[in-house]
Amino acid sequence: MKEQAQFHVSYWFIAVLVFLGIQYLLTAQQEVATIPYSEFEQHLKDGRIDELAITERRIEGTFKEPLPSGQRRFVSNRVEPQLAEHLQQYPVRYTGRVESTLVRDLLSWVVPAALFFGIWLFLLRRMSGGLGGGMMQIGKSKARVYVETDMKVSFADVAGVDEAKDELKEIIEFLRDPQAYGRLGGRMPKGVLLVGPPGTGKTLLARAVAGEAKVPFFSISGSEFVEMFVGVGAARVRDLFEQARAQAPAIIFIDELDALGRARGAGPLSGGHDEKEQTLNQLLVEMDGFDTSSGLVLLAATNRPEILDPALLRAGRFDRQVLVDRPDKVGRVQILNVHLKKARLDAGVDPQAIAALTPGFTGADLANLVNEATLLATRRHAEAVGMEDFTAAIERIVAGLEKRNRLLNPREREIVAYHEMGHALVAMALPGVDPVHKVSIIPRGMGALGYTIQRPIEDRFLMTREELENKMAVLLGGRAAEWLVFAHLSTGAADDLAKVTDIARAMVTRYGMSRRLGHMALEREPNSFLGNEAMLGLKPQHDYSESTATAIDEEVQELVQSAFQRSLALLEARRELLERSASRLLQQETLEGEELLSLSTASISASA
Ligand code: ADP
Ligand code: MG
Ligand code: ZN
Repeated sequence: MKEQAQFHVSYWFIAVLVFLGIQYLLTAQQEVATIPYSEFEQHLKDGRIDELAITERRIEGTFKEPLPSGQRRFVSNRVEPQLAEHLQQYPVRYTGRVESTLVRDLLSWVVPAALFFGIWLFLLRRMSGGLGGGMMQIGKSKARVYVETDMKVSFADVAGVDEAKDELKEIIEFLRDPQAYGRLGGRMPKGVLLVGPPGTGKTLLARAVAGEAKVPFFSISGSEFVEMFVGVGAARVRDLFEQARAQAPAIIFIDELDALGRARGAGPLSGGHDEKEQTLNQLLVEMDGFDTSSGLVLLAATNRPEILDPALLRAGRFDRQVLVDRPDKVGRVQILNVHLKKARLDAGVDPQAIAALTPGFTGADLANLVNEATLLATRRHAEAVGMEDFTAAIERIVAGLEKRNRLLNPREREIVAYHEMGHALVAMALPGVDPVHKVSIIPRGMGALGYTIQRPIEDRFLMTREELENKMAVLLGGRAAEWLVFAHLSTGAADDLAKVTDIARAMVTRYGMSRRLGHMALEREPNSFLGNEAMLGLKPQHDYSESTATAIDEEVQELVQSAFQRSLALLEARRELLERSASRLLQQETLEGEELLSLSTASISASA
């Protein structure tokens, strides 16, 4: 490798210099006679000296005739003139002595030079340490590609994320026997993206997949690419795939994919950041180049899927996403059971009670909680961890999480529960609306404090005016419930309002569904070929008059308003059911479709 060659050249260079220096000193010694000062004086008196050069400490000169030993040049160390005069009276040989400056010279330049060289080497090492080993290994990723061939983590260690586990089971089957899997021509997804908030167990889950399938696990973290030289990241990605291919079937896991796969040209440093771009391009190339029949599966994790480069999410790349969400109460009990196994517990410790006290906690928070409680118990010299340790630890952790804005306070949770039940109950009351699949008050992703999932029964390509009106009523159900119960308006409905307004506007301007304006298309579908005008900062062009614009606004307002009144009326009629189901939701955090149905039928039979 090139770096290696350079390294050797510099060694050679130093060696040659030292050699030449020594040789020079030796030959110089041979040609020049070192004589005592008294002898010099004698030669001087006898007139045998031809030339002299006098320095502060030494006298150098040449004889007219060479000495019997053959040397023509001599040197002598000087002695103070007065002292020399004085010494001349006695028959002694005397000479000056120059202190050896060797040690001082060494200290004054060899040591600093060595130090400098050392620091330089150290820095180089450190820089290249992030790249993988010494500087002779630039591009070789061995040091930072973590390979675990004997993974101890199994699905039993990951609790409360059953939906994600179910989706990953197929991959495990495939890795266990890639040939059998491809027998019918089935194709595995190349890449599976685990998406979810931090601490929900994505990394753990990826490792568990490797553990269950008993295949080597090659992992690398996107954030490690950030501080690298141009070209190195790409080389490492290539290397990663090469190593994994050699050991297939295997899993390649890229943690924190967002650090690497941020949309190109979208970051704050866009343009200047070739390195990431090169690395990302290399990743895309590798993904396109590998064939799942070789037995490689690429897993990645991110908590910010929205900033990923769209190229990564295209078909044939990370085309399957698995949601790893915050656990609900049941999930939290399961996770606690996993982590409580390691602690010595008091009889009074009840996972159900702990789970009830920890809404919004992720798996990592719960693992941390168990650890904190254990530490508290240790500090008070207890025999076992008691319930009071857990409550104390929860208080501590909750304070920290609230500061980071991740937990709702009880009042907010109550509002969210009514809001979500409002959506659900309006949806259940209206005919032809997609049935409610699940209601939850577990915060999901950014912004959403809770959610209601409706699953369509069939694919729909056409919607009637009535269906659109129903849809708007469902969307406004959340706000209507808040209004009904708390008589307030909150910001929680912002997203719903945006959707409702869009539907109402489209009904008036595109679908010709307003009685007043008639069957006219006043605006068209934005032309996707020319790009989104709003993105370019241009208002879409209208070809209607100001008075029509006013009429549109009034019609939209009218539609939204009547949808809201409808939801409000529906909820007023079901006030008792709303209260009951909201408090059930608060307690349980999620309600499935069947449970909702049984709640409402119970209330009907009770009122009947
Ligand atoms: P993520 O990668 O989603 O940020 P991690 O997988 O790194 O989260 O989780 C950190 C730690 O939290 C794990 O090592 C584990 O101890 C604990 N943990 C997280 N989720 C779970 C879970 N579902 N079951 C058990 N433990 C979990
Ligand atoms: Mg992680
Ligand atoms: Zn809502």
